[in-house]
Amino acid sequence: MRKNFNFSAGPAVLPEEVLLQAQKEMLDWNGTGVSIMELGHRGSEFKTIVEESEANLRELMNIPKNYRVLFISGGATHQFSMVPLNLYSAKKEADYIETGVWSKKAAAEAKHFGEVNVAAEVIKENGLFTVPPQSKWSLNPNADYVHYTPNETVEGIEFQWVPQTGKVPLVADMTSFILSRPVDVNQFGIIYAGAQKNMGQAGISVVIIRDDLIKDPIPGTPILYSYQITAEHHSLYNTPPTYSWYILNLVLRWMKQNGGVKKFAERNERRAMKLYQIIDKSKGFYLNTVHPDYRSWMNVVFNLETPELTQLFLDEAKKIGLKYLKGHRLVGGVRASLYNAMPDEGVNQLAEFMEEFAKRY
Ligand SMILES: *Cc1c(COP(=O)(O)O)cnc(C)c1O
Repeated sequence: MRKNFNFSAGPAVLPEEVLLQAQKEMLDWNGTGVSIMELGHRGSEFKTIVEESEANLRELMNIPKNYRVLFISGGATHQFSMVPLNLYSAKKEADYIETGVWSKKAAAEAKHFGEVNVAAEVIKENGLFTVPPQSKWSLNPNADYVHYTPNETVEGIEFQWVPQTGKVPLVADMTSFILSRPVDVNQFGIIYAGAQKNMGQAGISVVIIRDDLIKDPIPGTPILYSYQITAEHHSLYNTPPTYSWYILNLVLRWMKQNGGVKKFAERNERRAMKLYQIIDKSKGFYLNTVHPDYRSWMNVVFNLETPELTQLFLDEAKKIGLKYLKGHRLVGGVRASLYNAMPDEGVNQLAEFMEEFAKRY
């Protein structure tokens, strides 16, 4: 067992079993006598990874037949561009729900290509961040799509419900949310996620897209930014990040072996609630300012009374192997990212440390 627990928001902790397996087969993958890194992406050997990863994801998320699964180079930020480039029709109107740093960045990027209507924003009510109910949103019934971010990784704000957008396709940036709990894929037009938070290594993203949304992109769209080209070429138009793809597949396999999404969801909820309970019982020693209905299971964000005390908390935590707990540079404080690959033991040790630290100061 590794001695440290990595609470980083991303790139983030990977399952120890996955790292050990990658280590074991580094020099000789599957009897080929070469590393997976050295294998051609169009060869029959790499093809097994292409096919197995899609099958694994389809099984884990119960992805219906009328959805394509694309594996695309780069991160979620690439998708901030690809979504508008591929979904804007001639009228170029989209609705964005702004609940934090990432959804705002997505909206800002879409503005380069068309109209953006901010249909709802996070609000502060009695000192707590919350999202207005959908009845108060100003959704455009003729929008080309509605974009939202089910889990805001920086602020720790997570939807416990899925917006209902009728005929307008719903697009979700699930980078820090995917595979953390079951979702009904049918409710979405596009789901996208960078791999390096909850399912692998940086360099690759997954896009789950409903068939009818694969169409000609805006004229002038660079070839690698076209979902249509990507789909036609089965995600192999050019050389993909093969090693990231391989690690992603190992993580998906590991999830299947460990009970699948439902099992992880139960665990994720229990673990997050354990930390929120400690925060709430601390009488203001630890402070989380997200409404209980929107508290994130994946990124538990909290503050201590002063920056000095926060620093002391981070320093002492680090000394006992609880690492990378520092909050995002934009919001400060502490952020504990509890992705699927975080062992229970890490969360238990953090919980113990939080209680003990609060008693001492
Ligand atoms: C990390 C993150 C991103 C950015 O991902 P990159 O891989 O750096 O492009 C976008 N959206 C969300 C929700 C994230 O957590």
